[in-house]
Amino acid sequence: MAYVIAQPCIGVKDTACVDICPCDCIHPTKNEAGFADSPMLHIDPDHCINCGMCQEECPVRAIFPEEDLPAEWASFVERNAAYYRKSPVG
Ligand code: SF4
Repeated sequence: MAYVIAQPCIGVKDTACVDICPCDCIHPTKNEAGFADSPMLHIDPDHCINCGMCQEECPVRAIFPEEDLPAEWASFVERNAAYYRKSPVG
């Protein structure tokens, strides 16, 4: 289980979560290539330690523990994971 970033992040990409994450497992960061083109941020499910710190920081409440993810956003589990299969980051 990992935390998951869902629909409310799209078009927002606040990045407060990136700054607080102790594992550097939220990407892309503002400094990475592809930040401008990525519609949202993603949590690497293989590196997230489930600390919950990012959830508290998100101004649009886009982050959930996987088990609490609203059903309409279930596809975001795969969307977060897929980002790391395509990217060298993580
Ligand atoms: Fe990072 Fe913790 Fe959020 Fe996982 S739950 S993405 S480790 S801040």
